[in-house]
Amino acid sequence: LFADVALAPRDPILGLNEQFNADTRAGKVNLGVGVYYDEAGKLPLLKCVREAEAAMAAAPKPRGYLPIDGIAVYDKAVQKLVFGSELKNVATVQALGGTGALKVGADFLKQLNPGAKVLISDPSWENHRALFTQAGFTVETYPYYDAANKGVNFDGMLAALNAAPAGTVVVLHACCHNPTGYDITAAQWAQVVAAVKAKGLTPFLDMAYQGFGFGLKEDGEAVRQFQAAGIGFFVSTSFSKSFSLYGERVGALSVVCSSDEEAVRVLSQLKIMIRTNYSNPPTHGAQVVAAVLSDDKLRALWEEELAGMRVRIKAMRSALVAALKAAGVTQDLSFVTEQLGMFSYSGLTAAQMQRLRNEFGVYGVDSGRICVAALNEGNLPTVAAGMAAVIKG
Ligand code: PMP
Repeated sequence: LFADVALAPRDPILGLNEQFNADTRAGKVNLGVGVYYDEAGKLPLLKCVREAEAAMAAAPKPRGYLPIDGIAVYDKAVQKLVFGSELKNVATVQALGGTGALKVGADFLKQLNPGAKVLISDPSWENHRALFTQAGFTVETYPYYDAANKGVNFDGMLAALNAAPAGTVVVLHACCHNPTGYDITAAQWAQVVAAVKAKGLTPFLDMAYQGFGFGLKEDGEAVRQFQAAGIGFFVSTSFSKSFSLYGERVGALSVVCSSDEEAVRVLSQLKIMIRTNYSNPPTHGAQVVAAVLSDDKLRALWEEELAGMRVRIKAMRSALVAALKAAGVTQDLSFVTEQLGMFSYSGLTAAQMQRLRNEFGVYGVDSGRICVAALNEGNLPTVAAGMAAVIKG
């Protein structure tokens, strides 16, 4: 039965983790990860989460099945966070993290417009291509990273959108682009929204890092602009990073429709996607997030803790630049502090990244992506010394 099954290639990032774990050097540093570590190099358990869980543990509830679309209070809280208010023309369903939200959306889109192509940014989070391909789409890219100018090739991006056939699904990183760390400005978003509207494209905003760029509200700029344009669009939300709840799989998919009645029909279809995949979502993580978002005190605590993560990442960006300069790197490194979110496209080549790994025990992705959210005062000297050495050649 399985004689002809091919061995699938290893996930490059998981492969890197395995290599890191097998490395016996004491001072090794893993910057290949996509998670936020605190100053002590530990995955944080947020206080707001602990408090919500303590309250839940004090009044334990039986675990029946959730509705197919998840906890109603959670879905409403997501809408308030993403759109500023609860909206009847938006169909929101609880999902298994941001990935689950993307997959439910992709399956629904495949049914809606089976011949559509999907455009993702070049480069993008590696799972975008795989996920939409697996959902049956042909996936192509629109230009995004401008390596020469260390920024976004916005003209290229816009030209690709303008050349795309109507119905093309365009996956856009709502904020904190993974892997480059480069976002477009509000004025550029206005141009993207205008092009998407004029060409009749289907926007799918992936929001995995709300709050990590400039703030919860500030990072919602793209969503607000699409909403104001009055077109239908998708938003996938992930709380993996912003609540440090990676393993709980807490996310949501919101589909913005042109009327309340349309949203009812869309929701009924999303429920079929969910029902035939995993029937209904798990309870715990969404209950925690709903409890935090719906309680003023816990919500304020969360915003404070989220700001703490954001500020610490920015401080690490500045510290990395300072340490590289102190180590004699003369190139302009201002791009490191301009980038947003958990990652930095360091501009290092695959060969430099390999040298960094082999000689200095500093692990990053061959694309040059390093996770700045995994830097701390303790590992910074090792990272800076290694990076400076490979940059200087
Ligand atoms: N989209 C992007 C851009 C991401 O970086 C990630 C997580 N690395 C996800 C989606 C998926 O998030 P989750 O872990 O919640 O599935």
